[in-house]
Amino acid sequence: MAKLKIVKDGDSVLRKTCRPVEEITPRILTLLDDMLETMHAADGCGLAANQVGVLRRVVVIEVEDGHPIELINPRIIAYAGEQEEAEGCLSIPGKSGITHRPMHVTVRATNRRGEEFDITGSGLLARAFCHELDHLDGKLFTDNVVKMLN
Ligand code: ZN
Repeated sequence: MAKLKIVKDGDSVLRKTCRPVEEITPRILTLLDDMLETMHAADGCGLAANQVGVLRRVVVIEVEDGHPIELINPRIIAYAGEQEEAEGCLSIPGKSGITHRPMHVTVRATNRRGEEFDITGSGLLARAFCHELDHLDGKLFTDNVVKMLN
């Protein structure tokens, strides 16, 4: 495993749309491992591949310690409710703001064994799904922040 460099706001790679993963190669598995290590080292709860300079639809999330979620080609298939909570981003250090997100989000994705699965999250996990999937489409939380906190 290797710790990767996290791209910061202002780098154009954060504004690009990531491409789907067509085949789960050893490179993709290494990317997942490296992204998890990078996220842990940065003490974050989510990371999208373009945040480490890779334009692929790959996301890692860990809102509950010891329970990492790996998402390949994720998409939101259902959402419900709403919430307004503080949100930050490893690519925008030192900033946080209130965003408007659904309270419950269901994502369909592929795992590292190539199997499709659905996962539903509420609260913080729902926010993490929205935040990280936005990254894959070149969007940052600051684009639709309701109120910046700092
Ligand atoms: Zn982010």
